[in-house]
Amino acid sequence: MLKILVCVKQIPDIDLVKMDPETGNLVRAGVPTLTNPLDLNALEAAVQVKESYGGEITLITMGPPMAESTLRECLAVGGDEAVLITGRPFGGADTLSTSYSIVKAADMEGRFDLIFCGKESQDGATGQMASQLAERFDASQVSCCLSIDEIGDGKLRATRVLETGREIVEATLPCLLTVEKDNFYGRLPSLKDYLAAKTAPITTYTENNIDGLDLNKIGVPGSGTIVPKIYPPELPEPGRIIRTGSVKSDVAALMDVLTEKGAL
Ligand SMILES: Cc1cc2nc3c(=O)[nH]c(=O)nc-3n(C[C@H](O)[C@H](O)[C@H](O)COP(=O)(O)OP(=O)(O)OC[C@H]3O[C@@H](n4cnc5c(N)ncnc54)[C@H](O)[C@@H]3O)c2cc1C
Repeated sequence: MLKILVCVKQIPDIDLVKMDPETGNLVRAGVPTLTNPLDLNALEAAVQVKESYGGEITLITMGPPMAESTLRECLAVGGDEAVLITGRPFGGADTLSTSYSIVKAADMEGRFDLIFCGKESQDGATGQMASQLAERFDASQVSCCLSIDEIGDGKLRATRVLETGREIVEATLPCLLTVEKDNFYGRLPSLKDYLAAKTAPITTYTENNIDGLDLNKIGVPGSGTIVPKIYPPELPEPGRIIRTGSVKSDVAALMDVLTEKGAL
């Protein structure tokens, strides 16, 4: 039976996140959250593999306690087990410490044959996690999968999308995959699965119950990068449409503007 891990991240609705002009920090409080959309494509790919070859899907997320709702959403559409890594010491993590924390917690659940990730998150959007996780899991990696064509004998064959065409690759298991959306649109839960997911057990790991966790490698101390400030880009002066009613006066008005700007 294939053991499959799917990494899912809860993100704030980025259209609603505001910036604190004083501190330059993102204000996330009170902003609705959602499951990173590309992670739902990754989960759908995992579910299709499970349906074709058998297996068990473990969902894993690292985040604040409310990230549990993302796990429940994903349990309702094909996940079998769910793992939440949470606790203040994990906060402020960059990708280096997040990938470390995820692998240490996943190790508590055994060895995985397949690991699925979104290509990037909509909020952090570094796109670094998949490669870091593959390295830490000592797994091969196939990115941008359009289809997973065959799995057997400790290997898989997949079709990747390239800018210039398609590429068929073979990789040994364990293997980490990121997928394209096209063949992996997320499915809707049945009412039965939705209700079952509401009360399904979730395994919770904190800094206190992960074997061999090095506290210097999680959260801020374990992060190689620091973001001192976030600020919106300076936008150029917006353009102006001159519409005075006649071409002649439009041209005159344009000449005035250009003269005023010293362009003539
Ligand atoms: C208490 C706490 C607070 C946190 N607060 C924030 C925060 O405010 N902002 C923030 O961006 N992150 C936060 N995190 C999570 C973590 O710091 C980031 O997820 C991490 O830096 C990944 O960056 P990225 O989103 O750019 O990764 P990317 O490389 O863009 O993500 C690619 C893929 O990796 C997987 N992945 C990424 N992050 C996680 C995760 N946390 N759990 C499971 N799978 C994941 C997903 O499949 C995702 O699609 C918090 C974590 C904890 C414990």
